[in-house]
Amino acid sequence: MTNTLHLSDLLPGPGVKAPANLDTVTLDHVSEALTVLRTILPLDSRDFSADPLDAVLYGVLVGWGCEEHPAGARHDEECGGDGAFDEVADTFGWSADQRERIRQYRAAVRAMTGD
Ligand SMILES: [Zn+2]
Repeated sequence: MTNTLHLSDLLPGPGVKAPANLDTVTLDHVSEALTVLRTILPLDSRDFSADPLDAVLYGVLVGWGCEEHPAGARHDEECGGDGAFDEVADTFGWSADQRERIRQYRAAVRAMTGD
């Protein structure tokens, strides 16, 4: 895997043709854009937990916590549960409301990207 990303590798994107203007933007376009962002972010070698803006972007687009097990279910040793989310949230002092909003935004992105 390479850390070198070029815009030409990403656009016009693998699935949905880019809209001619904003009047024709559909949920498919938004889903495509979010999927591209969600795909390329983890390819970068930077530590997304080292910067507060990076931490939010990663938390919304990729997610810090376990997404394998549904809410309220037991986590196992492999998934790590919400440990990474809590650690990042604690590092940057996210309030309970901020933590909930990031979880809600992440759920919205997941609904749009289908992952
Ligand atoms: Zn889990």
